[in-house]
Amino acid sequence: MEWNSFDGAEVAALTEGTAFVAEPGERDCPSCGARALRAYLTKPETARRPTLVSYVWCTACRKFVGSRSALPAGLVFTDPLATLPVAERRDVERSLTGFLAHLDGLWETGVLPQSFGVRSAS
Ligand SMILES: [Zn+2]
Repeated sequence: MEWNSFDGAEVAALTEGTAFVAEPGERDCPSCGARALRAYLTKPETARRPTLVSYVWCTACRKFVGSRSALPAGLVFTDPLATLPVAERRDVERSLTGFLAHLDGLWETGVLPQSFGVRSAS
């Protein structure tokens, strides 16, 4: 089954309310209303500046959006994909369908959502 993108109004709605890092867990989808909206955050190691890449998807209506922003200072989190061997990770990320299916699998088994914390500057 194909994935579609959230439209502009839905993306805007995603940014409302409590931040995902403050309250990880499924939330209401702005498109279909199901409590099936999930997110996964990662820090690409190849980025020149500290970058945060987020994937937000609804497992009920299969809409998704990916975005990139500056990594908030001190934000730390677990990344279950970071421990995958490079070849395996490349395999997982080859197609959007495969990637989101992998993330859903991690969610079903309780590996996701990730745990977030803020490390204070010392
Ligand atoms: Zn939905």
